[in-house]
Amino acid sequence: MRLKIIGAAGEVTGSSYLLECGASRVLVDCGIFQGKDDERKNREMFPFSSVSLNAVLLTHAHMDHSGRIPLLVKEGFKGKVWATLPTLELVKVLWYDSAHLMKEEADWLTKKNSRKGLAPVEPIYTRDDVDDAIKMLSAASYDDKLPVAPGISVRFRDAGHILGSAILEVWLEEEGKQVKVVFSGDLGPQQTVMERNPAIITSADYVIMESTYGDRLHKTNAESRDEFRDVLTTALKDKAKVLIPSFVVDRAQRILYELALLKDEGILAGNVPIFFDSPMGVKATEIYKKHMNLLSSEIQQYVSQGKDPFAPGKLKYVSSVEESQAINDVGNAVVVAGSGMANGGRIVHHLKHGIWNPKNHVVFVGYQAQGTLGRRIVEGEKNLRIAGEDVSVKANIHTINGFSAHADRDDLLAWAGNFSTAPLFLITHGEPKSSLAFSETLASAGMKGVVPVAGQEIELEPNGAGKAVHIAEQPVVLKREEVSTLLAEILLLASGLQNRSVPVQEDGILSLLKSSKVLLETANEKMNERLRAE
Ligand SMILES: [Zn+2]
Ligand SMILES: [Zn+2]
Repeated sequence: MRLKIIGAAGEVTGSSYLLECGASRVLVDCGIFQGKDDERKNREMFPFSSVSLNAVLLTHAHMDHSGRIPLLVKEGFKGKVWATLPTLELVKVLWYDSAHLMKEEADWLTKKNSRKGLAPVEPIYTRDDVDDAIKMLSAASYDDKLPVAPGISVRFRDAGHILGSAILEVWLEEEGKQVKVVFSGDLGPQQTVMERNPAIITSADYVIMESTYGDRLHKTNAESRDEFRDVLTTALKDKAKVLIPSFVVDRAQRILYELALLKDEGILAGNVPIFFDSPMGVKATEIYKKHMNLLSSEIQQYVSQGKDPFAPGKLKYVSSVEESQAINDVGNAVVVAGSGMANGGRIVHHLKHGIWNPKNHVVFVGYQAQGTLGRRIVEGEKNLRIAGEDVSVKANIHTINGFSAHADRDDLLAWAGNFSTAPLFLITHGEPKSSLAFSETLASAGMKGVVPVAGQEIELEPNGAGKAVHIAEQPVVLKREEVSTLLAEILLLASGLQNRSVPVQEDGILSLLKSSKVLLETANEKMNERLRAE
């Protein structure tokens, strides 16, 4: 019995784990990578044969858990993809949207390539691949034990993260030996607002545990609501625009609910339009409305008062691109749009047209991965290139992490503390700093935690006594066109800097340039060594 860590090790995105038991092979999650280097990583071959898998178990719909399943099917996977019913409905929406974006991206790159005489670029997967993947989806109900392959069974438990999200309890049995592995998936906080609280699980040999906020505490819900109320109050007084980049599944519905509460309080005046600029988000909201029975008692209470939690004040659903662009001319409005990390989607053009205005407000309400536009704004960069234009950041930037659908450090610790069988915790789905900090937190609470790396294989034994086998990483082959594109970009940057007529103010620019030179010299030496070796 073995567990192989495929993704989300030392990073938040790209969740994927392979379980092997006898001749059975089951994959848990198959997510896309987002942020730094994502295009290359998403195109990489799977480190296993897709055809050989018996089944895929999907914790929840978010793309960093589900997004590469259509690629798996494209590469020959023929088994079932098990997930809860709301997850199945949500992934259909997300996958078609993703295939659409991949096509746009590939068309754009193809155009760019053809000018350089390079080959066209194929999208990672297409609508047809999504059609095929959807045929593999099978509904698993919460709390029932389900056999998914010889020797492997699973039970989906509520994770309290987004609608349909699940913790997986997986039992493996081979030659009379039994091992239980629990996958936390993405865990909701201990005190949820939108979903039910995460299920308490008390027994496991191994727990694969997320650590997105393993080194941080969120503000309380009440504090976050106060922060949000303050931003909205100021913005409305100044007749400003409030831009809210938001994941369109769950976070957007939460924001709509928070806006509805402000409306109830009389803070959101009736004449200020709220634009929900995401056709995909609108579809997701419909799915949420269909499964109100799976949401929290707070939401259900709100509904029982005859109110719609996702329809605040003057809410406008925006569908066409023209309608979306027309929002640029509206000065006083609230705009909720994807993507949550501003690395794509309609929020990008709203930021381009609004972030330069000191009157406006940008409110980040979720995790921002390294390398994304959202992360750069949150980290205080003042000059950015957004959708092909240089824009200076003058708007008021806020981060409200208390609306997160993720557990914080104390929530994670509380959930881990429910296990009474002293399992080995494998800490994943976090930046290294966060995962390491959380494994130390576990250790100081008397629990055993390790932070695995991608590619690592663990021989599973009862009581978490497995040996970790380190598998050497595959050598990465340099792609010629990748190198030449990079060099062209560097040259362009360098000549741009040289042509800048304004006097350079020394705020670290010189040392940045010097280190770039050292890096290039090192690359040059390495390239020479390689040439000599060949
Ligand atoms: Zn998630
Ligand atoms: Zn995730």
